[in-house]
Amino acid sequence: MKKTFKFRINASKTTIQKVEEVINLCRILYNLCLEQRKNAWQFHKKSISANSQKTQLPELKRAFPEFKNVPSQTLQDVVERIDGAFQGFFRRIKAGEKSGYPRFKGSARYDSFTLKQSGWQLNGNHLSIKKIGIFKIKLHRPILGDIKTVIIRRSSSGKWFVCFSCDNVPLNPLPKTGKAIGVDVGCEAFLTDSDGRQIENPRFLKQSEKTLQERQQSLSRKKRGSNRRAKARLLLAKSHEKIRNQRRDFHFKTANELLKANDIVCIEKLKSWKTWRSLNKSMRDAAWINFISVLKGKAVEAVREIREVPAKNTSQICSGCGEIVPKNLSVRIHHCPSCHLNIDRDINAAINILKLGASFRDSVSICPEKPRPSGRGSSRIIIDSERNNAIVDYLSKDGELSFKEELNLGGKHGFRAKQTLTNQSG
Ligand SMILES: [Zn+2]
Repeated sequence: MKKTFKFRINASKTTIQKVEEVINLCRILYNLCLEQRKNAWQFHKKSISANSQKTQLPELKRAFPEFKNVPSQTLQDVVERIDGAFQGFFRRIKAGEKSGYPRFKGSARYDSFTLKQSGWQLNGNHLSIKKIGIFKIKLHRPILGDIKTVIIRRSSSGKWFVCFSCDNVPLNPLPKTGKAIGVDVGCEAFLTDSDGRQIENPRFLKQSEKTLQERQQSLSRKKRGSNRRAKARLLLAKSHEKIRNQRRDFHFKTANELLKANDIVCIEKLKSWKTWRSLNKSMRDAAWINFISVLKGKAVEAVREIREVPAKNTSQICSGCGEIVPKNLSVRIHHCPSCHLNIDRDINAAINILKLGASFRDSVSICPEKPRPSGRGSSRIIIDSERNNAIVDYLSKDGELSFKEELNLGGKHGFRAKQTLTNQSG
């Protein structure tokens, strides 16, 4: 498994000064490479490859000796970064998305440099980098696997960090629980699961809104280029950083809880940026996209399965009978006129997500022709890996089992809901 370990670092003033110089030279090189590519295309209709730019690096060092103070791999990485920016640009165009041409970077927009296999050495909590100096790492956990790259980064609030990107990091499997769960993310609750549990949306942005507003206003009152403006900018950056950290901690905690209790977590596939742009402030505050990427990352490490089901009417369909019950966002309770199921709309959606995940097909219901119990409270899936099957228990409101389905587990994608068996009680 690949994993990145991030730590806070400290260094002497001279070392920090050298790092700033290196980052600035990298930024200049980045802009030079961008200009070269831009001109080649504009005037000669030619595109320049990363390799051809890399072969020009020795020439650059002869012409501008200050670049000799930057490790060669770091300079090559800058060329790769610009190449990556162009590849992303062309990929988005090809996909028909809105795509901005790669931009020239000002000093505030370029904040890191990369080292690969050489030019650095790690001794305990000391990282020494050739031509730059020694950093003390706040090593709050061990670095696992083989270190592939080392990135030194300055945060917008002026703190320094090191990121070790590692390969072959050993997995850390959690003990099996035999449980699967469906999860719905929403604005009322941050998360609702198919067992009926809800986690509130902590709204960190809203909590700090007043401070943010004050600091933003204070910044806009200061004269451009002044010292006081720089200080105000730093204060604002610190507020934003605090919110980011709070949110990140919350996402990790929530993901860990979900994965600890369940072997399979079914979620709805969120539509990417289009949806994100259309979200309002409180929805962005929840930052589900970040949460889901944390969840996926943690799932790999814990050897858990995340199933993304297509977002298809999960809030409209009745989890009881499969009937479509249209409702707008303001309707918080799902009430089905045909089977009289009466539950919270998000719990209804979470159950639908679990069922979709269990069938792992585009279908809404596992076996739509079967009679359904009415007015049940929840459903759960119990996975029996030895018998290679899964039992879906639908529980009625009073907790009595009222409906049961058996699914065949097969194929590398898990469930193949071909074979079903029903049993009605009560
Ligand atoms: Zn119904």
